[in-house]
Amino acid sequence: MKPPFKFEILAKDKHSRARTGIIHTKHGKLETPYLVPVATRGFIIALTKKEINQLKIPAMLSNTYHLHFMPPGDKEIKKLGGLHRVMQFPRVLFTDSGGFQALSLGIGRVRNMKKIGFFHERKDIDEKDKKESFAEMTEKGIIFKSTYDERISRFMGPRESMEIQSNLGSDIIMAFDQCNCAGDTKKETEEAMLRSHKWELESLKYHNKDQMLYGIVHGGAFKDLRIKSAKFISELPFDGIAVGGSWGKTNKDLYKVLSWIMPLLPEEKPRHLLGSGWVEDIFNAVEQGIDTFDCVETSRIARHRHLYISPKSGGNIKNKFKIKVNQSNFNSNKKIDPICQCPTCKKYTRKQLYTILLKDKREYYKHATVHNIGFMLQLTKDIRESIKQGNFQKLKKRWIKEL
Ligand SMILES: [Zn+2]
Repeated sequence: MKPPFKFEILAKDKHSRARTGIIHTKHGKLETPYLVPVATRGFIIALTKKEINQLKIPAMLSNTYHLHFMPPGDKEIKKLGGLHRVMQFPRVLFTDSGGFQALSLGIGRVRNMKKIGFFHERKDIDEKDKKESFAEMTEKGIIFKSTYDERISRFMGPRESMEIQSNLGSDIIMAFDQCNCAGDTKKETEEAMLRSHKWELESLKYHNKDQMLYGIVHGGAFKDLRIKSAKFISELPFDGIAVGGSWGKTNKDLYKVLSWIMPLLPEEKPRHLLGSGWVEDIFNAVEQGIDTFDCVETSRIARHRHLYISPKSGGNIKNKFKIKVNQSNFNSNKKIDPICQCPTCKKYTRKQLYTILLKDKREYYKHATVHNIGFMLQLTKDIRESIKQGNFQKLKKRWIKEL
C-alpha cells in the first residue's frame, strides 16, 4: 500500500475471521471495526459541527452524486479547499462512487421501490405509479439527471467519478460500479458485474493516487458470480476491498454471501461492507472479517422515533435492538440505555427525552441522532476491545441470541 496509507492489523480472533486494526490516512487514524455514519450531502441530518465534535466521530461517508449535482458542486468544493474544509471535519472521509444512484434514481424509481437494497419482488406496476428514471445506463457509464435541477443531465463514467472524488479530496474512495438490484435475474446480475469489473479497471487507471481506492465485489446472490468477482477484484492493486450490490432476501443471505467471498480476499487489505450496519449485521460481518460498514439507517431511524438499545434494556434480534420513543416506553426516569455513554444519555432520562419530543421535534431529532450514532461508536469500540482481549465470541453471544 502506498504512503500515507497503511492498514495495520492489531489483533485477530482465534475462532473466526474477526480482526481489529487501524487504517492510517492523511486525516488521521481510523480504528476498525467501525460503522461509518453517512453524511450524504456533507452533513449528518439534525447534527451540527458541535455535536459531531462532542461525539468525536472519527470518520464519515459522503455521496459523490449529490456533492456533484448539489450546489456548489465538487469543482467549487475543490476551490474552497476540499470537502474536509467545507464540512469543517478534519478527520477521515469516505466517498462512494455514485454508481449506487443508478439503482436508487434509475430502476428503483421506475419500479417505485420504497427501500432500495432490500429484496423487491418484481411485478408490473401501474403506469400511473411509474416514475421517470433519472439514470440511463450505457456501456461506458451512466447519464444522470440532477435531482436538484431536472434540466441538467450529465454523463458519469469511471473517469468522471474519479475526478469528482479527487475534487472532493476524500481519503477513501470507491471504484465506479453498477449496483445491481435485488430481484435481478442471473443474466442481469452477471452483465452488471462484468460492466462493474470493466469500470473498476478504468477507475484504477484514472484515480488520484493520493486517495485510497477500494474495488467492489459484485455478483448479487449467486455463488459462482460472487466467487468470480472476489477473485477478480483481489488480484487488482486496489488499496481496499468493498462488498457491494444486493445479496438476496434477508440478512441471513448476506452472511451467506460473505462466507463465499471473505476467505478469498487478501488478508492485508481493509474490507468495507457497503450499505449495511444493523447491530446483528455488525457482529456477523465482523466475524467474517469485515472491517468497516456504512449505514444511513442509524440516523434515519432516530428521526423516525427509534433508538438503539442493548440487551440490558431488552434489545434483541427480533426488535433489531431498537425501541420506539412513545409514552409507554419513555415514561420513566431510566436511562435510554445503561451501556451508552453518549451526550444524550449522560444528560437526559427517557421521560425527559419524550418531553423534548412533544415540545420541539428538531431538538429531539438532534438528541436522538446523537444517541444512535453514539451507541454504535460505543458498540464498535467494545467489539474492538473484545477482539484484542480474545473475548469477541463471548461478547457476540451476549448480544446475539436466537429467539
Ligand atoms: Zn446514548
